[in-house]
Amino acid sequence: MKTYIVGNWKLNFTVGEASVYLHKLLQKLPNYRDVEVVVAPSTMALQPLSLQVDRHKIKLAAQNAFYRDYGAYTGETSFTQLYGVVDYCIIGHSERRYLFGEDDKMIAKKVEAAIRNKITPILCIGETESERAFGETADVIRDQLIGGLREVSEEDLDKVIVAYEPVWAISSAKSAKLASPDDVDEVVKLIRKTIEELYGKEAAENMPVLFGGSVNPSNAGGYLTVPGVNGLLAGSSSLILSQFIDIIDVAKRVQR
Ligand code: PEP
Repeated sequence: MKTYIVGNWKLNFTVGEASVYLHKLLQKLPNYRDVEVVVAPSTMALQPLSLQVDRHKIKLAAQNAFYRDYGAYTGETSFTQLYGVVDYCIIGHSERRYLFGEDDKMIAKKVEAAIRNKITPILCIGETESERAFGETADVIRDQLIGGLREVSEEDLDKVIVAYEPVWAISSAKSAKLASPDDVDEVVKLIRKTIEELYGKEAAENMPVLFGGSVNPSNAGGYLTVPGVNGLLAGSSSLILSQFIDIIDVAKRVQR
């Protein structure tokens, strides 16, 4: 399986800055066939960057989109509009869940709309600090996974990527802590077990599962060697080109 390195730029970079970053990344990045490099710029930058990017080297992801295709939904962008512009879309990021009130029902509709429009959803799931403190991690992970995949048929499951992002480990969290590879291992096993119960062993083995939460070039190797982790989702470190490239290099080195 490929290793995925996804950079989530969140609400950062003007279109011009994003274009300069992409230009430099394209120049510096060797063509690593088995590392899938993905960047997720803001919606505004997607169209111009899609004309600039070399898709053999780098793929684009949206950070969010709406599940209706067209209509009276002021301010939204649909997966239908993103078709051909991006290959991936991050869905259910904790910032969407907790700052913008997205629930599993809405997230499930977005996952369905992404697949229908030939965009690979990267479904983010993860427990908050207090959920973890109350011993609710397993329940939250199962609920978010089952909830987010509710509208995905068995035959479409291979079009989905899951990202485990403990909310307490994301760098923007008030008192972010680093997840240990053992923490990640425990939850990734639970994710695969849940998928196996729902869709069978083969589906569970084949589903790419990523980890995200304060990933940087020094800890990337530790997370990537956790069995069953197929890649990383990086936020703040993806904003610094040299760090993002170093993470990609680590992925190349530790590839199984
Ligand atoms: C994220 O928000 O998806 C993320 C992984 O952020 P960071 O790497 O900054 O913790």
